[in-house]
Amino acid sequence: MNVDFSFTTPFYVFFCFVGFLFSGESFAVEVKDIRIAQQEGETRLVFELDKSTDHRLFSLSNPDRVVLDISGSTFPASSQEALKSLPSGVLKKVRFAQRDNGTRFVLDLSKAVKSKSSTLSASGKFGPRILVELEYGPTKKAPPVVSKSLSSLAAIKRDVVIVIDAGHGGKDPGAIGKYKVREKDIVLSIAKELTKNLSALEGFKPVLTRSSDVYLPLRDRSQVARNANADLLISIHADAFTKSSARGASVWALSLSGKTSEMGRWLAEQEQSSELVGGISLDDKDQLLAEVLLDMSMNSTIQFSLNIGSSVLGEMGRVAKLHKSTVQQAGFVVLKSPDIPSILIETGFVSNATEAKNLGSYAYRKKLASAIAKGVKASFMKNPPEGTLLAWKQNQTRSTIYTVTKGDTLSEIAKKNSVSLSRLRGVNSLKNDVIWIGQKLRIPSS
Ligand SMILES: [Zn+2]
Repeated sequence: MNVDFSFTTPFYVFFCFVGFLFSGESFAVEVKDIRIAQQEGETRLVFELDKSTDHRLFSLSNPDRVVLDISGSTFPASSQEALKSLPSGVLKKVRFAQRDNGTRFVLDLSKAVKSKSSTLSASGKFGPRILVELEYGPTKKAPPVVSKSLSSLAAIKRDVVIVIDAGHGGKDPGAIGKYKVREKDIVLSIAKELTKNLSALEGFKPVLTRSSDVYLPLRDRSQVARNANADLLISIHADAFTKSSARGASVWALSLSGKTSEMGRWLAEQEQSSELVGGISLDDKDQLLAEVLLDMSMNSTIQFSLNIGSSVLGEMGRVAKLHKSTVQQAGFVVLKSPDIPSILIETGFVSNATEAKNLGSYAYRKKLASAIAKGVKASFMKNPPEGTLLAWKQNQTRSTIYTVTKGDTLSEIAKKNSVSLSRLRGVNSLKNDVIWIGQKLRIPSS
């Protein structure tokens, strides 16, 4: 469920969810498609409906945005992924929230606009429509420069985007170990090998935060991930410890509780010493509310990160000696993106003679990178994000049919069959989690 950060209180979030469960089936209107046309000085959006309904439009500033409420409507899951690729012109982002009385669309803008809306009745191949005009400069009567629709965007099956971050770089060498092995060099080499491995896989697109020996502030690293619409951020490190006996690779995810091991605190401090400001930026002025919502969105992101982390750790264990056999958690700043699953890999301790020797060897780094790639692949094959080529391919493959019995919930069925809730919804074109006794559900084979 997408939650509109700007309008909801935590109480409303829960209330809205409950209301949605019970009234889900009574919705009558569907937002079938959204089309966008870009002209000089004006961005126009057309919301295609299957039945006419009321709407209201209003604008807010700081940050500039326009809100469209469409009464009694739902927005199908199959269109949601394509929203990311819709923005153009003054429109930066389209968000939506399913509310108990319809759908709210929030159009985030790069500057203030003159906005207006109108209703168009059904004609020819088009059904009833809501036209939203965002005017921000002198307009010209000319054919649109850009024109796209959700339905055309949804037909494109995107790659799973993995952002690979080689820690440190440039003026920040990271840890310096035995045999003068420098962290910034070996992690860049592993990152490049990992990129090669993932490029070779169909349906994966790796993106490096740095491809040479340059310094990059932590904030810029998560910005690369955000700009690329990353499905996962992997930050690669290799540390030094005061005791040269310390050794072993480990995988880390963010901890929210503040509970973290001695080693976790120490490592997080090392990685943060070059910069203390993280990548979090919420425009909301209400700090407490912002933090609550951040925690809520982070909790699910962290769970996802832990799953990927343990798959990666399992593969790494075949190549490297592990420091701990489970994914550890600590407050690394580079992992603090509320919306992007992120893991941090400590490939070993360069302060330990054996590991410095290993990490200094190209053959070892190659083996390690290939193990990480295997772990990433296995995890995404198990739970491919909606809208990706991987998800589409898996939906094509055979699935079994499950008949809902008394007491079942969608989340339990998902859990029992080890598929993600979003995938189960996607495969069955469910708009919400309402199920009924006797309903037949397709269960994709994992
Ligand atoms: Zn490091």
